[in-house]
Amino acid sequence: MTKHVTIVEDDPDVRSLLTRSLGADGYQVTALENGDGIDAMIAAGHVDLVILDIGLPDVDGLTITQQIRRNSDVAIIIVSGRGDLADRVVGLEIGADDYITKPFEPREILARVRSVLRRDARARCGTPALSEHHVCYEFDDWVLDATTHTLSDSAGRPVVLTSGEYRMLEALVTRANRVLSRDQLMDACYGNNAPAFDRSIDVCVGRLRRKLNDDARNPRIIRTVRNGGYIFATRVTRI
Ligand code: CA
Repeated sequence: MTKHVTIVEDDPDVRSLLTRSLGADGYQVTALENGDGIDAMIAAGHVDLVILDIGLPDVDGLTITQQIRRNSDVAIIIVSGRGDLADRVVGLEIGADDYITKPFEPREILARVRSVLRRDARARCGTPALSEHHVCYEFDDWVLDATTHTLSDSAGRPVVLTSGEYRMLEALVTRANRVLSRDQLMDACYGNNAPAFDRSIDVCVGRLRRKLNDDARNPRIIRTVRNGGYIFATRVTRI
């Protein structure tokens, strides 16, 4: 799913540079001149990352960061002027995930955005103490933890999977964008204990689609391939 980045920046040139660069890189972008209403936006909708200028005319970016952190752990990158070391330190202390200094190159901000979003997804993946050995896959708004066998949604909430559903999802995720026949899936899910009931794969796919909010009539994530089987048709990133 497209990640939504909200920019708070009073300088129209910087605002439009950020909007254009992030838009061209495939992000959905909302640009604001000030922090009015940002809390409600984060609470109501789907904001994955906030890029926040520190130097804003009324309420400054550090105050807004504090405000956001009272209710939300959304990713935040603060933008500061070159000399404002103290502001950057304070920003990180009060909960910003990263900072960038002006003037910046668009590709620098894109690299920061990607890295912060990746860390954000990783943070949702299992116990941090085990993270080195953890294998997690991110796709759309989901994280599948292959170590703890859990699936979490964009807010980090676990979605309960049966062991059959987990094995099926793991088989699909680790072989994304390849057609898998029912036999291959049967093997991956059940090994030698395949049930005689040959519709069990389709039933399991149906249940997974429901859990992933994938429309059964027009599935986007687990697509049916006519006479072939199934394909996991979304980008999977190992995180
Ligand atoms: Ca400014």
